[in-house]
Amino acid sequence: MNRDTLILHAGYRSDAGPFLMGPQFSSTYTAPGEPSQHDLTYGRFHNPTWTAWEEALGVLEGGQAISFASGMAAVAAVFGVCLKPGDTVVLPADSYYTTRLVASNWLKTIGIHSRLVATRDNAQGDALEGARMLWLETPTNPQLDICDIAELARLARASNVLVAVDNTTATAYLQQPLALGADFVVSSDTKALAGHSDLVLGHVATTNPEYAIALRTWRTQLGAVPGPMEVWLAHRSLATLALRVTRQCSSAQRLAELLATHPAVGSVFYPGLPQHPGHSIASRQMSAFGGVVSFDLSTRPRADRFLGLLTIVKEATSFGGVHSTAERRARWGGDAISEGFIRFSVGCESAEDILADVGNALNDIA
Ligand code: PLP
Repeated sequence: MNRDTLILHAGYRSDAGPFLMGPQFSSTYTAPGEPSQHDLTYGRFHNPTWTAWEEALGVLEGGQAISFASGMAAVAAVFGVCLKPGDTVVLPADSYYTTRLVASNWLKTIGIHSRLVATRDNAQGDALEGARMLWLETPTNPQLDICDIAELARLARASNVLVAVDNTTATAYLQQPLALGADFVVSSDTKALAGHSDLVLGHVATTNPEYAIALRTWRTQLGAVPGPMEVWLAHRSLATLALRVTRQCSSAQRLAELLATHPAVGSVFYPGLPQHPGHSIASRQMSAFGGVVSFDLSTRPRADRFLGLLTIVKEATSFGGVHSTAERRARWGGDAISEGFIRFSVGCESAEDILADVGNALNDIA
């Protein structure tokens, strides 16, 4: 079966009844006597809505999936089950800022060291000595730099270093890190995976059954459990993942090409452009280049003016939703970017409308 068809049916029931069971809202189940005699006892331990969703995620990722309350809860779970005091994790210097904050605010205080190294040119591969874990993010958020997952996983394996990939920007639809040799894939499902800007959710997937148990135990004991409504909404949204992401990628490519030739724009960051330094690696390891395009308008006043001129595109943070959004990313701090850096999330509107909206705003600030 084609992967798009598999994803559309993933985790859906094949017996008589609804295609997809509704969300199950229960914190407690009737379960007399010996707890191990019951499939369901308490809502922090298990939930049938999670089970169906995790089965679907397993199809997408090619491993066992564990759903978490947010992308950051998923990130924290991988750190939590793999790292102990004295360990070192090699992190992308240009990773999602909050991942670096977890390292500096929390891991550091319990004696876990982090080594920050750029994503570009596979530079993290030269920093593995003595490390316990290599953390990759490709494309990075927000600068969309690329590294070679298979090559870095090969180097890490040779040095006995675990590999985790934050796959949020690509999604499992476009890139499958476990098949490329990673031990863990982490995702914020808040973004394109769920894709409707209506929930916060995350997951981890792994091919290692012992780590899968450890991650479930972490979730049960630390309590980073997802809500059944969020999980059900995400599962329902998964049926249109291929349609949504395919359209977002094709419009993003057109937008990047427009930006690359527009006189009002400085640098354009999109791995689908042949001039992007990671283009050939991205062409190998991704099936398309994603729905996020970043570009530089050099100054804050120009960026603010551009955002204010947009009519269809909403000024908002996050990315991956069906509605196009854009923001001046430096307003949050933490990234080595200019004050005029724009992160643009391409939605599912008609490409002509998105391009016209952006083109008109750019013409006004040129
Ligand atoms: N990883 C990346 C690359 C992200 O962009 C984000 C959120 O923006 C996260 C992790 C955290 O996800 P969440 O906001 O669902 O906790």
